[in-house]
Amino acid sequence: MNELISHLSAQYGAEHARILTGYSAERPVSLRVNSLKADVGEVIAALQSLGGEVEIHPWYSAALTVRGLTESRISETNLFREGKIYLQSLSSMLPPLYLEPKAGESILDMTAAPGGKTTELFALSEGKALITACERDKIRYDRLVFNLARQGAGRVFAMRQDACDLDDFLSFDKILLDAPCTGSGTVSSLLPVRFAEEFLKKCVARQEKLLKKAYRLLKKGGTLVYSTCSVLMEEDGEQALRFAKATGAALVPISAPDGAPTLPSPAGTVCICPDARYEGFFLAKFQK
Ligand code: SAM
Repeated sequence: MNELISHLSAQYGAEHARILTGYSAERPVSLRVNSLKADVGEVIAALQSLGGEVEIHPWYSAALTVRGLTESRISETNLFREGKIYLQSLSSMLPPLYLEPKAGESILDMTAAPGGKTTELFALSEGKALITACERDKIRYDRLVFNLARQGAGRVFAMRQDACDLDDFLSFDKILLDAPCTGSGTVSSLLPVRFAEEFLKKCVARQEKLLKKAYRLLKKGGTLVYSTCSVLMEEDGEQALRFAKATGAALVPISAPDGAPTLPSPAGTVCICPDARYEGFFLAKFQK
């Protein structure tokens, strides 16, 4: 943890204390209602009948936070088993919203497992986008396939493969790269820190390779959303600016949802600070 703290302190100065407070905050359970299988009213009523105190998020009507019920209690419900809800952090619901999937569009979710964002993309397009979900890890791929089926997203085409090896012959209208990262935004009492300088370097190199591949697979005029659950500039703002410079991709300015706590990041990108509602997260949007 000390290595990460010195890194954050060098990067953010006194502001790094907000991140450390966020790491120790206890967040309420958050979940996304799967609009393909349930409506929000039905889910709220069921959770309230179990004693949950439910709040809808102003920026996404499918995003709920629940106090008074644990994740494990919620995962015993029929709502969960039938795929009517998906346990997901608020921050991790953002990338699909910024990608704005529409019916008929070809969309690649490059690093997709366990599928929270793939199933959200599918639901946002009302089940009408043509989504390919790629994942290289066998165990995580199996989980992805399971989640796709449970969430009623069986029409999503799942591929078990290293996304860097996808055929350049393929092309997509939109790509989500929710990249593998150090996870420095999601540190909590339950998630131990995995930070080391060597690990950070590896993550940065992997992200760079995946970004370059994403650019090759994107149609001209197509949209890419790049996200990480990290608050380290090397994986976030610096990575995004280097990518834009190297490829000529245009940064499409985005802003954080109302009320979300942010950290300094390059103009037009968003870095969410971990707090009592949000996990730390980074987002940038590009057009080819
Ligand atoms: N988007 C997912 C979700 O919301 O459920 C989470 C993705 S997680 C941050 C990153 C995933 O990328 C991991 O499952 C990891 O196994 C996978 N991955 C890492 N490198 C990859 C690569 N080169 N090709 C495909 N998948 C990769």
